[in-house]
Amino acid sequence: MTSLSDAAVEKPAELGHKASALTAAGPFVALAAVAAILPLIGNDYWAVIATRAAIYWVLVAGLNLIVGYAGQLAIGYVSLLTLGAYVTSVLAAGNVLPAMPLAVCFAAAAMTGAIFGVVVGLPALRLRTFYFAISTLGFATIVTQIALAWQSVTGGGIGLTGPEFPKPFDTPWGFYTFCLGVAAFATWITSNVAHSRYGRALVAIRDADVAAEANGISKSRALIPVFLLGGAMAAVAGGLFAVLQTYITPDAFTFDLSVLFFIAILIGGRGSILGPLIGTVVLTILPEFAAPLAAWSTFLYAVLLLVIVLAVPGGIADVLDFHNRRVLTNNRAIVPDPSVLPGLYAGRPAAEPLTMRGVVLAFGGVRALDGVDLTIEPGTVHGLIGPNGSGKTTALNVISGYYALQKGEVRIGDTPLPTGRPELRADLGLARTFQTPRVVAEETVLENVMIGGTVSGRAGFLTTLLALPGRGRDERELAARGRMALRAVGLESLADVRASRLQHSELRFIEIARALMLAPKLLMLDEPAAGLSPDEIARLGDLISAIARHGTAVLLVEHHADLIFAICQHVTVLNLGRVLADGTPADIRSHKEVVSAYLGG
Ligand code: ADP
Ligand code: MG
Repeated sequence: MTSLSDAAVEKPAELGHKASALTAAGPFVALAAVAAILPLIGNDYWAVIATRAAIYWVLVAGLNLIVGYAGQLAIGYVSLLTLGAYVTSVLAAGNVLPAMPLAVCFAAAAMTGAIFGVVVGLPALRLRTFYFAISTLGFATIVTQIALAWQSVTGGGIGLTGPEFPKPFDTPWGFYTFCLGVAAFATWITSNVAHSRYGRALVAIRDADVAAEANGISKSRALIPVFLLGGAMAAVAGGLFAVLQTYITPDAFTFDLSVLFFIAILIGGRGSILGPLIGTVVLTILPEFAAPLAAWSTFLYAVLLLVIVLAVPGGIADVLDFHNRRVLTNNRAIVPDPSVLPGLYAGRPAAEPLTMRGVVLAFGGVRALDGVDLTIEPGTVHGLIGPNGSGKTTALNVISGYYALQKGEVRIGDTPLPTGRPELRADLGLARTFQTPRVVAEETVLENVMIGGTVSGRAGFLTTLLALPGRGRDERELAARGRMALRAVGLESLADVRASRLQHSELRFIEIARALMLAPKLLMLDEPAAGLSPDEIARLGDLISAIARHGTAVLLVEHHADLIFAICQHVTVLNLGRVLADGTPADIRSHKEVVSAYLGG
């Protein structure tokens, strides 16, 4: 059996990880090498094109976190480029305030960009995707109109001169070198964010928002830092753009530019940095090779986008992802190893009972929960059964905060659980899995599990951005813990495989591993045995029992009566939102009404 699962990875996990980190850096090193020899082989004309690509990338790198990682359709991002270009140019020209040093101009632009990055982004917290996309376009129009109308400051339609760089950056290749440095820095900081709990939180919001909340990720707290960062980077790019143009007018900032930024990310591939980087370079250079077609550039972008979306839906990043093309064995057995659980539970607060008292929740006229009392003791498996529609999932949703109860109370230990607010549950030690597994298909198994540890990370956003020691410590601890949790559920050999390649049963076990990252006080499992083979159900039962033995209170909603009676110490039967029976498995099995209404025999 081990030989089967070992076939998925040829190298020990640690070595494999280092090797894949090296392969990941390879393409960036190659690109940097090409960028470094350009000045030796190209003319001044190419210096301008290459500089433009570097500047666009500074903007796209930040936007990539918002669009590619968090999945928010911010299409009108040219507005922040415009804003940055005008702030730097106006401050450097000194036509309003006394002329300021370049560093101050750029710092002011970055700050303005950060503020307006949040202003442009905020609607994303309320509006659905397309409405948000339109709102960003609206903002772009407003900025252009203000630049046109506010003549005393911006020069209106006539425009104004861009800032000038001092020696040695005042030549085309000198300025190129400067912008290349900024672009490299942009790549580095966004990659630091992407490969951290902040980046994983963004992807979780994009692909599994309900699971993200259950893991303690609040949409606003995850998005606001990247709105700040994306806005600041776009505005700095705007300042550099003004220097490159030497003279700016409102019509330099066209809708086409917004489209270019957005499409560079789409053809690059979601959740990748290398892909959108290549996308940006290609889209910047493309019109140069097709000069006669310049008027058609938007059309060309659209065609390119269509071709890529149809031929390789994952974008450039997918084409370059050789690692995930390795064949996986088909008959992989899931063999949990509960012996690692003590490691996961070490140093965690002791579990506490969960109590529901008189909980009522009605949907219109339907009383889904009608005065439910329930106590789940630490160290036990508590079964919750009942016919379809009896309120089992609703009970889990009330405890996890997705539904606000109308009467009654839910407590963990002595702490009342705040009504609603699912994102506060993880901090209180509550974890759950879902009736339909909710994982991020495009991330690796290990990264999915690490999402479960989001609330235990300690490094702040700035620490993460600049890769200060706290970020490294967080990542090492989370990864080590993630591997331990995967070992506990029997999926360690698949840690570095993308989750989209796994079977349904394996996804169920990933969700359990993700929940184990918290060493939870309460673990809620919604029909975890659905779709598993009898062998897998038996192993799942052993795993759940072992988790309870380590102190966790387990609430198990399940249709497989055999599993319920085999591993539960206590069973509650719901019917029409009320507790029909409550007791040991033996009590329930001999309960007349339960047998006639539900167990059917
Ligand atoms: P179970 O999980 O036991 O099959 P549920 O908790 O999903 O049952 O549903 C209990 C009752 O509440 C059902 O009558 C269902 O139709 C109703 N219900 C559940 N969720 C909602 C909702 N979001 N809106 C309206 N009715 C709902
Ligand atoms: Mg249900």
